[in-house]
Amino acid sequence: MGRFVIANHKMYMTSSDVKKYLSRINKEVNRQVIICPTSIYIPYFLKQKFKVGIQNVFYENEGAYTGEISPRQIKSMGVSCAIVGHSERRKNFLETNSEINQKIDLCLKNNVNVILCIGETAEEKKKGLTEEVLEKEIKEDLKGIKDFGSILIAYEPMWAIGSGETPSMKEIDIYTRYIKQIVKKYYDYKDMKVAYGGSITPDNIEEISKIESLDGILVGKASTNPDEFIKITKSFLKD
Ligand code: PEP
Repeated sequence: MGRFVIANHKMYMTSSDVKKYLSRINKEVNRQVIICPTSIYIPYFLKQKFKVGIQNVFYENEGAYTGEISPRQIKSMGVSCAIVGHSERRKNFLETNSEINQKIDLCLKNNVNVILCIGETAEEKKKGLTEEVLEKEIKEDLKGIKDFGSILIAYEPMWAIGSGETPSMKEIDIYTRYIKQIVKKYYDYKDMKVAYGGSITPDNIEEISKIESLDGILVGKASTNPDEFIKITKSFLKD
């Protein structure tokens, strides 16, 4: 697998925005890019043959869980992957590492690939705890998991999400390598693919693209602007 790009549209755009967006990116964006639209818009992207991911899943396959969507249901729609453990879910919906672990396990049992998001808060960074936080999340989120080839890890420092701030390029490189090393240490798996996410824009993508240890990027807000997203994907994938 070459480098990959994931778009997280969060809760942006109306259906008419999505239609305009699709007509703009249709011929410009590589179909290897994974787009994670707001769930209700997923069929629009599938119809245009994009690879599609969901922004969150539930940890049961079916039942009386109003408002939730299961791995089995997304698989039945042709959705190939799910973001799990996004910091906005951890922060706003108090998702725990144990729930995240259950979600990952159920996704893999349903042949849904997982994009696992991990990263430290501003406070933890200030205290020098970044490595400790990453290690704890990797240990708890991936406990008992076997199929590492179906998982991508996104290093997404919480303080960098939507803030306009990013770590230095050196820090991104250090923590990308660190994540790979920790996965190797605990699970004896040496090929973990790692992405960076947090305030990626057309202005910083050239520099980020040069980080060789990086396998992918996760783009939030900037991915909802078609022109910015086209620039970012072309620059990172060099196509
Ligand atoms: C994200 O939400 O995963 C993300 C990377 O957001 P943003 O690019 O807006 O910081």
